[in-house]
Amino acid sequence: MKLPKLLLFFLAFSIFSCAKKEETTSFKFAVWTTADAKKSDADYTKEFKKYKDGGIDEVLINTTTDPKLLKRLVPLATKEGLKVHAWIMAMNRPNDSVALQHPDWYQVSKEGKSCFDNRPYVDYYQWLCPTRKESREHVLHLVEELAKVEGIESVHLDYIRFPDIFLPISLLPKYNLVQDVELPQFDFCYCDECVKAFEKIHHKNPKESHNTSIDMEWKNFRLNAIKAVVDDACKIAHKHNKQLTAAVFPYPEMADHMVLQRWDKWNIDEVYPMIYHSFYNEEIDWVGYATKQGVADLEDKKTKINTGIYIPGLKNDKELKQAILEAKENGAVGVSFFDGNALSESNLKTIKETKASLK
Ligand SMILES: [Zn+2]
Repeated sequence: MKLPKLLLFFLAFSIFSCAKKEETTSFKFAVWTTADAKKSDADYTKEFKKYKDGGIDEVLINTTTDPKLLKRLVPLATKEGLKVHAWIMAMNRPNDSVALQHPDWYQVSKEGKSCFDNRPYVDYYQWLCPTRKESREHVLHLVEELAKVEGIESVHLDYIRFPDIFLPISLLPKYNLVQDVELPQFDFCYCDECVKAFEKIHHKNPKESHNTSIDMEWKNFRLNAIKAVVDDACKIAHKHNKQLTAAVFPYPEMADHMVLQRWDKWNIDEVYPMIYHSFYNEEIDWVGYATKQGVADLEDKKTKINTGIYIPGLKNDKELKQAILEAKENGAVGVSFFDGNALSESNLKTIKETKASLK
């Protein structure tokens, strides 16, 4: 009588371990792409087919938060065998027709200027305050509208952070900037609601701080404001049986330092750190370094990492292959390429071949 029980145990164990193996070997390949409502269904089918034929499994689509356009694209992509993620620009909402009716929803710099009409770096930097009830509820409402769309895998948050206090080093010359310290025109959000909420907890005004760059309460307040939006977005996505994912900065300390984003503390299913080595004058092995750091920081959480690879920053297909392998070997569950338009025929051939070599 003992033997069959034992056999059953081994049988169950082997089924379990097979399932587990299957899960760990299915390394995912994704691509970020921005939709254009004017493009025809046939053009989209062609684009999605091209990705699928090149070994891509998933598309992260920016519809500029248009659930109707998303509804149109989901069946076209799924027909070609691709999974779809609804990519939304979360706190940075350029040309948001609803938000633009409310100038007080926008973030305010340490200089006291609102990015409603005084935008840092570029005209599309139009950031909403994560603390003010109305602006955060607006963002969460948009998340919910996307989460309701049938057939998507996740709502994918982008720009879920503050404006860059420090720009990536390789971008500084483009803006003719030197950023050796935190500069007040790039430091946000000093709006009345943020100051009020901070004072309630800490009994001091950040505008009167001797040096905000070493005021940890002020920093932590802002990290927590973003975390609170993410955690609420996660509840909303899960309510509609969708996952929550996000495009984030390379690894948590770096994200914290540059854009006040501490993603290892978030309630979120998967993150897509943009490990764009060329933005930071780094080499390909840094893709592995940053992936590994993020994986280690998430060790105790269920959150998984997909390494974001910047296609224009690669010199050749050999580097593309190396970047994919760096991500895989350092614990990512997949890679995502920025962006779909940048992928050449030869890139797609390399992706397909590299994918086949992983099996
Ligand atoms: Zn604010």
